[in-house]
Amino acid sequence: MYKIDRLARNASDYHVIRATLAKFGVSILSATENLTDDPAGRLLETLIAGVAQFDNEVRGERTRECMRSIVASGGWVYKAPYGLKNARDSFGKPTLEADTNVSHRIKEALEGFAAGRWTRKQIAESLSISQQLVCKMLTNPLYAGFSDTLGIETKGNWKPMITRLTYDHIQARLNGTEEQRQTDRPEFSLRGFLRCECGGHLTASYSRGKLGKRYAYYHCVDCKNRIRAEELETIFCEKLLQQAMDEKELALFERLVREGLQKDSEASKVRQQSAKRKLLKLEEERKKLLHLYTAGKVDDDLYRDRDGELKVQISVARVELTENDIECADFEATLEFAQRLLRTPVKFWQNARLEVKKAVQWLFFPDGLLLGVRTPDKNKADKGLIAPVGSDSMLASLWGFEPQFSD
Ligand SMILES: [Zn+2]
Repeated sequence: MYKIDRLARNASDYHVIRATLAKFGVSILSATENLTDDPAGRLLETLIAGVAQFDNEVRGERTRECMRSIVASGGWVYKAPYGLKNARDSFGKPTLEADTNVSHRIKEALEGFAAGRWTRKQIAESLSISQQLVCKMLTNPLYAGFSDTLGIETKGNWKPMITRLTYDHIQARLNGTEEQRQTDRPEFSLRGFLRCECGGHLTASYSRGKLGKRYAYYHCVDCKNRIRAEELETIFCEKLLQQAMDEKELALFERLVREGLQKDSEASKVRQQSAKRKLLKLEEERKKLLHLYTAGKVDDDLYRDRDGELKVQISVARVELTENDIECADFEATLEFAQRLLRTPVKFWQNARLEVKKAVQWLFFPDGLLLGVRTPDKNKADKGLIAPVGSDSMLASLWGFEPQFSD
């Protein structure tokens, strides 16, 4: 129906945003129809996703509060990991128990890994599961009888499969291998978004400094280009700061978005009127049919078939009618959210969750950014962030179609 092509370089981001938008409902679809193909439209889509998320989070808070209290008292309300099953304790409280079909093999594998006898690959092969799942299992404290998912370590009331000591050994072994992929680490939010100037893929990992402290690094897989994550983020924030809008620009942005909405709401009115006419016609037809039936001019079977058909068509028409209804309150909230993001993008980015961070990155720099490579004439690395050739920044193209602003 619509595309988030620029924003959605990354499949997981795409799905997160898409799913959130879907939850938000149909008014958004019509609100963006006329805007989709320009930067303002893309911005609005992302922001709508953000507002929806926020809304869902507020509503979900109460449920989560309740789930948290169960976990805090040693129960387990979330999906059980492989090898454990969701169960109820003697008081009926949700907890975990071993899945005896596989638990002994998992126990053996985890203990084997802790002792250095097994590798991740061997575990994956032995249990016929993916290496990715193995990684998740190795870091999952539930097997050792405790949880730390909510930032708090809690001893669970279920029977541990492995000891705490075994678990600690596993973690120590995992942390010793620098090659371990650090997926979904907030400190590596720029991974996948940045490429090396040489064309190589930038990956992230930890390295130990001279004093033994661990530092997060981004490094190119093809050349020797390497930079501390902290340093890179400072540079990125400077770049992002240049994208911030001043009040004059924000006012213009608001005008453009409102004009877009105006156009769209006119188109939507037309659609709505035609949907209303269609609905009235169908209801009329159904009444007529009933009339004919009671007058004995239509037999039972024909009446039932035709009436069933009309009923379905009427429900479809009703849905169409509500679909065309633009909710202005949502729009105002979205606009306000958009302006906050555009006014202080750095602050917004710094405080956002990982997936929002990534969305913001692609939003401001739809073509990603390149990390400058060490040059032979300069001994020092030129570690600036460069926009790829031919790329357009979100704002550059946003103002591009606004002639009075270019001079
Ligand atoms: Zn490189």
